[in-house]
Amino acid sequence: MSSDARELRLEAQRRRTFAIISHPDAGKSTMTEALALHAHVISEAGAIHGKAGRKSTVSDWMEMEKARGISVSSTALQFNYALEGTDGPGAVINLVDTPGHADFSEDTYRVLTAVDAAVMLIDAAKGLEPQTLKLFQVCRHRGIPVITVINKWDRPGRTPLELIDEISERIGLIPTPLFLPVGIAGDFRGLLDRRTGEYIHFTRTAGGAKIAPEELLDPDAALEREGDAWIAAVEESELLSEMGQDHDEELFLAGQTSPMIFASAMLNFGVRQLLDALVELAPAPSGRTGIDGTEREVTDPFSAVVFKVQAGMDSSHRDRLAFMRIVSGEFERGMVVTHAQTGKPFATKYAHTVVGRDRSTVDTAYPGDVVGLVNATALAPGDTLYDGPRIQYPPIPSFAPEHFSTLRVTTADKYKQFRKAMDQLDSEGVVQVLRNETRGDASPVLAAVGPMQFEVVTARMKTEFNVDTVIEPLGYSLARRTDADSASELNRQRGVEVFTRTDGAILALFSDKWRLQYIEKEHGDLTLEPLVATA
Ligand code: GDP
Repeated sequence: MSSDARELRLEAQRRRTFAIISHPDAGKSTMTEALALHAHVISEAGAIHGKAGRKSTVSDWMEMEKARGISVSSTALQFNYALEGTDGPGAVINLVDTPGHADFSEDTYRVLTAVDAAVMLIDAAKGLEPQTLKLFQVCRHRGIPVITVINKWDRPGRTPLELIDEISERIGLIPTPLFLPVGIAGDFRGLLDRRTGEYIHFTRTAGGAKIAPEELLDPDAALEREGDAWIAAVEESELLSEMGQDHDEELFLAGQTSPMIFASAMLNFGVRQLLDALVELAPAPSGRTGIDGTEREVTDPFSAVVFKVQAGMDSSHRDRLAFMRIVSGEFERGMVVTHAQTGKPFATKYAHTVVGRDRSTVDTAYPGDVVGLVNATALAPGDTLYDGPRIQYPPIPSFAPEHFSTLRVTTADKYKQFRKAMDQLDSEGVVQVLRNETRGDASPVLAAVGPMQFEVVTARMKTEFNVDTVIEPLGYSLARRTDADSASELNRQRGVEVFTRTDGAILALFSDKWRLQYIEKEHGDLTLEPLVATA
């Protein structure tokens, strides 16, 4: 192996690229902050701001970043983290952001194509919640290994075994706790390290502003100090071992089991343990296979997949950013790569990390890293960029839309603007756009996984393109993929309408599942295939 290839392999091996999946309010922002604190991003920032409390919120990161030169972006936060007692450069952690609010859309799913692992963050009192479930299904679909964190253990909640059972029973993912809490939810004293049998006792800091000091005790000392709370944790651990719920790296990587940690993002308890688990257990970036079966190793020439395209992020930067995840090779700003979908060259002179409203230039990046490309008008989510031998990665699946509406312009003379805007939002993948001859181009049908996507469309139509539009819900609730041969018969059916999506897929929309079932029964010869579902 050449020294370049060796260096590339080392750079790839020390990277961990992951996303946090959670229901709103489970503590994703707080945990992100806590992770940054443990990587010594935030404590230094606290010093910059001269603030002692944990008032430094995510928005302050921009300031921190300017001062410290850390890459925080609205898409990925990158930081170094070294396991305690290890020498060398340590790990590079890429935490890729997923849209955090209830306005989850296909965007989130696309982000999950860019990561190698996910952290499923669960509120100890609430257990599995709907959005966590949906996102988990995407991880399962993509074979992404999941680490589970039970957060807010400092507040009253369920018991560890209840939470473990709920996860195994409802989603078939078997938790294998690495640590069990000592003290019930609401009385979080520390963690039993199930692999060593030792006790990690945490001490609170004022307002949870600092890394919580840890004290390591052997089992005897733990028993003496915590009494029944320690005994309960030990018994739970033994019970789990009897049930075979100990960490197994192979089963974890296969998506069958999930290492579990109990934490309080707010108090910074269990956060170091999460980082350690990511570094020790989560997979490093690996190569991928192209649609023609060609394999690309991380040490092969540069290749990357675009997973998110965003325009109008800021009124002072009225351009379009494409975020790519590097799959193989070294990225050097300025290199001219090929856009697989068009075969055209793409110059990467403007490669950035996006820092809130500011951008900083990225000169070099490695497999697992996320880079934003400016003025990437030709790039769409799922596209491949490469250098050297041709490679094209499989497209990102479009998820089955469940909400359908028409979009109508209400300002008469803005039709041209409207079309332009529609094309823009379509190519960014904000919604799926469906058309057919009957309806024409003036009122395309928008299809979405979540209805909030429609609001994003009308809001952006207004603010970026100055076009007033209204959304009018259509009476369809599910879609099937069909073909040109089946289209005319389907169009004759009541409660069915056929459309062509921008990517060329022919979709039949049905008023409800009974309509679909009836047609499937009556016309068994028609092509009606389910789309990739999210739940
Ligand atoms: P997000 O919506 O998932 O990003 O959640 P946030 O990080 O904004 O947290 C939602 C709320 O839960 C906030 O009021 C946090 O202060 C609180 N919170 C987050 N983590 C913890 C925790 O570990 N313990 C407690 N008690 N509260 C927490």
